[in-house]
Amino acid sequence: MLRDLQEISDGKIYGTNDMVRTAYRGCEGCHACCVDMGESILLDPCDMWMLSGETGSTFEALIAEGRIALCAADGMILPHLKMDAKTNCCSFLNGEGRCGIHAARPGLCRVFPLGRIYEEGRISYFLQTGACEKPGHAKVKVGKWLDGSGTKQQERFLLQWHGFKKRVQERLAGCAEAEAKTIHLFLLQLFYVKPYEKDDFYVQFEKRLAEAETVL
Ligand code: SF4
Ligand code: SF4
Repeated sequence: MLRDLQEISDGKIYGTNDMVRTAYRGCEGCHACCVDMGESILLDPCDMWMLSGETGSTFEALIAEGRIALCAADGMILPHLKMDAKTNCCSFLNGEGRCGIHAARPGLCRVFPLGRIYEEGRISYFLQTGACEKPGHAKVKVGKWLDGSGTKQQERFLLQWHGFKKRVQERLAGCAEAEAKTIHLFLLQLFYVKPYEKDDFYVQFEKRLAEAETVL
């Protein structure tokens, strides 16, 4: 893991209090990482909650509008941001080349060009070298760059979700196709399709997680 990291990063591991050179002037005038991202911007349940709250659209509506789509990833069936078929840009990129859902953008957009490392019950970060077209000239505190994605509550959620996905992978290994399909659909419904209330995402998530654990 760490050897692979050496190849795609600057070789350093960052915590939220560390300083890092990310993007020049906080991405001013650039949206290069909102284009041609394929299926890579996966949504976690918190992203789904924020996206629905921001757009007022249900999971089904976002699929129907071509904003999100499903793919197989991390051993599950997960939604991801869908690129526009004509422009190959994220469908939330507006005419001014800015993110139309900036305050509610997914966690992976928030951390980029940093990446997350899940190890020993905590999250640290690495800088993806070559990922940003405008590498930073000035240093910024990692916690500030994460813009809400590095809070204790969010970190607890991310660790829970990451651990859960690993358990799903283990549970489904060697599972009959029909049973695996049933579990995939159940989890998709539970964590993404079923609407969330406006407040207290983390409380809702933990209740759903406890329910999901019953099938593992
Ligand atoms: S390529 Fe770099 S500067 Fe441009 S939007 Fe992405 S992170 Fe920001
Ligand atoms: S959600 Fe916003 S930041 Fe993320 S890829 Fe789409 S336009 Fe870019």
